[in-house]
Amino acid sequence: SKKIVIKIGSNTLSDGEGMLNRDFFMNFTSQVKRLTDMGKQIIIVSSGARIAGVSTLGKWKRKEDLHYKQALCAIGQVELMDSFRRSFKEEDLLIGQILVTRDDLSDPGRTVYIRNTLFTLIDEGVIPIINENDSVSVDEIKIGDNDNLAALIANLWNADLLILLSDIDGVYDKNPKEHDDAVIQETITDIAKLRREISFGSSGSFGTGGIRTKIEAAEKVTQYGIPMILACGKHENIISSLIDKKEKASLFL
Ligand code: ADP
Repeated sequence: SKKIVIKIGSNTLSDGEGMLNRDFFMNFTSQVKRLTDMGKQIIIVSSGARIAGVSTLGKWKRKEDLHYKQALCAIGQVELMDSFRRSFKEEDLLIGQILVTRDDLSDPGRTVYIRNTLFTLIDEGVIPIINENDSVSVDEIKIGDNDNLAALIANLWNADLLILLSDIDGVYDKNPKEHDDAVIQETITDIAKLRREISFGSSGSFGTGGIRTKIEAAEKVTQYGIPMILACGKHENIISSLIDKKEKASLFL
């Protein structure tokens, strides 16, 4: 696959204490560098604005207050992009930021602009990093989670592959964090069947979608023939390990 969309979840970007994880950024960047050197084109969809906002302020007040949450995203988005910019610079890679809301992706006129911007960035060798514009979007106008956003971007760009990097290495028949005997589902060709057979546990503390939105994303892209991999972003060199089949993951076809 040449055109790859990689989505990074909040729990992957951060360490156990809710700080952005420098080691992850360094390792992830070198993986992207290797891929671009191989001639692959990459778009990144990254969560983590809120968690970066929290760690920047070093406190978590009025958790349920919408304005406060949106303010945290405004602060955190800058921190997040600063981490990306600095680590990509070490590899001589340039990044460009695109923040979108649901309206941007449901209006055909606007999607054309987004697509043209993406193609232009990629033609120029710049890596687009996309996130939902959480500081301006309220629930009613939200895509809601970056799994679905990444799927929409993969479809828009006509990607060859979507990779979701989470804190979990695949879909299990039940939440592996709560059940030691959970069994990973390695190749999934029938999503409706999968939905009937697995149980959906709760997501991590900073995760928004959990496993449900990852399956929705798989549904969105596989109907257009784009395969999706769910893998653990915490594992070092995960992407090349996936290519070499050294690491387990869930593959949706
Ligand atoms: P991210 O931040 O990467 O988007 P989330 O925290 O939103 O990740 O979702 C991943 C979490 O979903 C896992 O850490 C896991 O605890 C939980 N989960 C619940 N049910 C399942 C299941 N059946 N298989 C795999 N993970 C599950």
